[in-house]
Amino acid sequence: KKRNPGQDEFVQAVQEVAEDIFDFIKDKEEYHHYQILRRIAEPDRVISFRVCWEDDRGNIRVQRGWRVQNNNAIGPYKGGIRFHPSVTESVLKFLAFEQTFKNSLTGLPMGGGKGGSNFNPKGKSDHEVMRFCQSFMTELYRHVGADIDVPAGDIGVGGREIGYMFGQYKRITNQFTGVLTGKGLSYGGSLIRTEATGYGAVYFLKEMLGHIGQEVAGKTAVISGSGNVATHAAEKIVQLGGKVLTLSDSQGFIHDPDGIDQAKIDWVKVHKTRRRGRISDYVTEFRSATYHEGQRPWAVPCDVVLPCATQNELNGADARTLVANGCMAVSEGANMPTDLEGVHVFKAAGILYAPGKAANAGGVAVSGLEMSQNSGRIAWKEAELQQHLVDIMRGIHQRCVEYGGVAGTQRIDYVRGANIAGFKKVAEAMLAYGVV
Ligand code: NDP
Repeated sequence: KKRNPGQDEFVQAVQEVAEDIFDFIKDKEEYHHYQILRRIAEPDRVISFRVCWEDDRGNIRVQRGWRVQNNNAIGPYKGGIRFHPSVTESVLKFLAFEQTFKNSLTGLPMGGGKGGSNFNPKGKSDHEVMRFCQSFMTELYRHVGADIDVPAGDIGVGGREIGYMFGQYKRITNQFTGVLTGKGLSYGGSLIRTEATGYGAVYFLKEMLGHIGQEVAGKTAVISGSGNVATHAAEKIVQLGGKVLTLSDSQGFIHDPDGIDQAKIDWVKVHKTRRRGRISDYVTEFRSATYHEGQRPWAVPCDVVLPCATQNELNGADARTLVANGCMAVSEGANMPTDLEGVHVFKAAGILYAPGKAANAGGVAVSGLEMSQNSGRIAWKEAELQQHLVDIMRGIHQRCVEYGGVAGTQRIDYVRGANIAGFKKVAEAMLAYGVV
């Protein structure tokens, strides 16, 4: 806290990891001597820059942009770009720190980074978003590269924004390389990248349930968010025979007791991405649902929950409500959606709880596969990529089981398992490099 004043999200993320790592390294002298955890928790560099652009009325607007390059011990920095008014250096540092462990867990050669801006894309015209993205990349281009740092999308950065940024990078450098992932299929993107995070979170849930002899079919699911991760998580739940009860956005949530089926999910996707509408409009389209302004969906009784919107959207009281209502599993599609108290509630209740760094790693994993395809100038088939995603999520689950077993019980502490397995690979590489 003293080293990072005012950076609450970052301190929270480090604290959560440190709880597990201290225990793991207590008898490992090398890790102490070389200050491995402390070095992972100090980003390699934080780049902060001005992003100046002109809106449609001719006003000059000034935003702040960042790229946090946290750690490249096991591969080029890799992590998304977020455009949202709530973006601060603390938020990006926490995300880059988490990303380092997540990327390690995938088994692919990727370091950890994250970037973004406090720019709010809501209510902006396409042209305004384009001018902003171009201005953002005009500074960012000098810090990134296919073998240096490969950004991707995140909140507020989807296919449209990636297209504008990739176009600007190509224009400035005169190079066509895999400098960004999440690209369109016509210019080097990978099949199933769009679906990968949400699908992956459900594959992870399936693995956790399978481990205790249960399955997704027949389960009711509460999902928050209505963006990329939430809609694809919902889609996979439905495909596996589960029933999705809720979706949300930053203004409220909808509850559809009849279930949000594929046709309804398709409507939400178009409404949120193409029409840039609100989730509240769902209830005028589908009469079976109710809208709850200013609330989150955690009081709706369910078997499984997938928080897929944003950080700290589920607190201790919400976690207690979920547990009291019989929720048996949590798979985090978002990054750090559960606050520290909430994590402790889930752990104490002994329910299946998968932290984001394990459960939502499917997106970055397929981004890693997009990098491989770009390097080889090839495009893999959908079935092959689907199989890779399933295998990677299964591999992450196995690593969590390996390091997260709770002594004297059958239980798996997925937070501990993910933290230790993710840490170990990065730490080994750092030890090999000596003091750098
Ligand atoms: P999108 O921008 O597509 O969707 C974000 C959703 O969350 C929207 O429904 C949005 O509502 C809601 N939301 C955003 N901020 C808030 C807030 N402060 N309070 C309540 N709701 C909010 O983003 P993604 O689906 O891509 O990302 C969602 C989460 O998943 C993030 O935590 C992200 O870091 C994580 N993630 C994403 C990956 C990816 O591949 N996209 C990979 C791994 C993790 P509204 O429309 O009102 O803004």
